[in-house]
Amino acid sequence: MARRPDAGAPALVLKPGREKSLLRRHPWVFSGAIGRVVGEPELGATVAIRAADGAFLAWAAYSPSSQIRARVWIWDEQASIDDAFLRARVAAAIARRAGLAATTDAMRLVHAEADGLPGVVCDRYADAVVFQFASAGAERFRDTIVDAVLEATGCGAAYERSDLEVRGLEGLPPRSGPIRGAAAAPTLTITEHGIRYVVDVAHGQKTGFYLDQRANRDRIRTFAAGRDVLNCFCYTGGFTLNALAGGAHSALSIDSSAAALELARENARRNGFAVDWLEADVFAALRKLRDGGRAFDLIVLDPPKFAPTAAHAERAARAYKDINLLALKLLRPAGLLATFSCSGGVSPELFQKIVAGAAADAGADVRLLERLQADDDHPVTLAFPEGEYLKGLVLEKR
Ligand code: SAH
Repeated sequence: MARRPDAGAPALVLKPGREKSLLRRHPWVFSGAIGRVVGEPELGATVAIRAADGAFLAWAAYSPSSQIRARVWIWDEQASIDDAFLRARVAAAIARRAGLAATTDAMRLVHAEADGLPGVVCDRYADAVVFQFASAGAERFRDTIVDAVLEATGCGAAYERSDLEVRGLEGLPPRSGPIRGAAAAPTLTITEHGIRYVVDVAHGQKTGFYLDQRANRDRIRTFAAGRDVLNCFCYTGGFTLNALAGGAHSALSIDSSAAALELARENARRNGFAVDWLEADVFAALRKLRDGGRAFDLIVLDPPKFAPTAAHAERAARAYKDINLLALKLLRPAGLLATFSCSGGVSPELFQKIVAGAAADAGADVRLLERLQADDDHPVTLAFPEGEYLKGLVLEKR
């Protein structure tokens, strides 16, 4: 009999019946599914995933201390997980984004599982790329991935923001700072749909900017003409500046982060817009606006992740309902609400249900105009629905 190409490679052999999710091409192997470990794979090493009967399922990266014990690289037994493999995956991911260059010089080049690179995030900001390595397998190929991205893009500077809590679960220390082009300033300027933004890649949230909301920021522009806008959770002013570019009459913008608002002010100045910025907790500020009898024609709610996982869904539901109810009350008749959830633990169906509950409690008759999602550089694959975290609704109060 021919020797199998992986004979002798370390392997994770699953318990009987636990191969089902892998056969559906879900890329995660949970610790509870594993029957035994063959060999002594190191942190991040490539292991074969086998069904209980020994049948090959996939090649994956081993994370010995995480509940997600392995993340699949590929389902093909003949493949080798080496530098050439990683480089090909990076090149394919970057090629997929070519169409976005017409509207922005800032985009997510690699979106982890959805680009076949679990644990790897690369965001381009003009001539710099910011990297996040969230898993042991990603970490193992860090240098290869950085080289491949810089070569494929021609970018000179690389910055790391692997200051992620999940790295602790993977047995990896946090790491951040310049990787290449150390002299490059950590504050960069990008242009998205004609609006210029300052991005602080060293201290900003995520890798510095909410790239996933690009298309939705642009969409809001088309709804904004002549309206009094309230932008809640405004960060560095993305929705605000788009609303003003679309002819909004006014734009009150609230965030609790002084650092974000400092950049927001700078962004408004650079683009020549006048904005009323308010440093406050949105939950309290909405109540104050209500008590003050204020009203708006377009409200944006883009809160942080209230429910990272389904376990937090109930508490998150209360928070979503609260702000959506208050926003619907602050809307004038025929006013629009653009409301978002970036919680992986809240499905699009659940989110719509929560907002419907808020509308009912507000006594508002609400029409659903549009469903929104993350922009094209944050792809979603059918095998990995966990990747679909961002959902939005555009609603009209009648
Ligand atoms: N819409 C933005 C991204 C919003 S991210 C964009 O397009 O760029 C969520 C924002 O909510 C962050 O800026 C964070 O500082 C802010 N935030 C979190 N909790 C808050 C609270 N309770 N009140 C006000 N702002 C809050």
